[in-house]
Amino acid sequence: MKAVVFAGDGQVRVASVPEPQVVDPGDAVVRVRRAAVCGTDLHLVAHAGDLPVGTVLGHEFAGEVAAVGPGVRTHAVGDLVAGADFTACGTCWWCRRGDHWECAQRRFFGTGPAFGPPLAGAQAELVRVPFADTALRPVPDGVGLDAAVFLGDTLATGYAAVRRAGPRPGTPSRCWAAGRSGSSRASPRRRAAPGS
Ligand SMILES: [Zn+2]
Ligand SMILES: [Zn+2]
Repeated sequence: MKAVVFAGDGQVRVASVPEPQVVDPGDAVVRVRRAAVCGTDLHLVAHAGDLPVGTVLGHEFAGEVAAVGPGVRTHAVGDLVAGADFTACGTCWWCRRGDHWECAQRRFFGTGPAFGPPLAGAQAELVRVPFADTALRPVPDGVGLDAAVFLGDTLATGYAAVRRAGPRPGTPSRCWAAGRSGSSRASPRRRAAPGS
């Protein structure tokens, strides 16, 4: 299959790489229909550190389930899904609290060893998703894939930032840089604290 890979020296290229397979029972393989480029991708490529050449990049995606392992309970082949930017077990103490980032089995798509054991990214025709029941959500009715691709990282990051900030109605707030990331913070902010 074709995938966007890190080519070294600040470069990326499209390469042919092996198709991912279901490895563990909780895995799904998703046929990627939309993938986005994140600022994290740009930082990684520009300041590669120990990012291996050939790493398949990308962690923002939506697509169609192409295969599931026998342990996957909430998704089936053919389902349209939005992916989270990283995966976590979903069952440990941290995950049950909703703190998936602290999960000892956390793996971040397409970032090499920066945030856990490497996991191939989603700027590819297919992506393997460990712990698919945790990392994938069905695309809601009426939501197109052009919007769904922003659910798993961009909007989720904005939502989490607003929740941590604990806004109160009427409290002034300001958002610098209203691109897709800034907008994804401003919108939950307005919902959480109307009139601010
Ligand atoms: Zn991102
Ligand atoms: Zn966990």
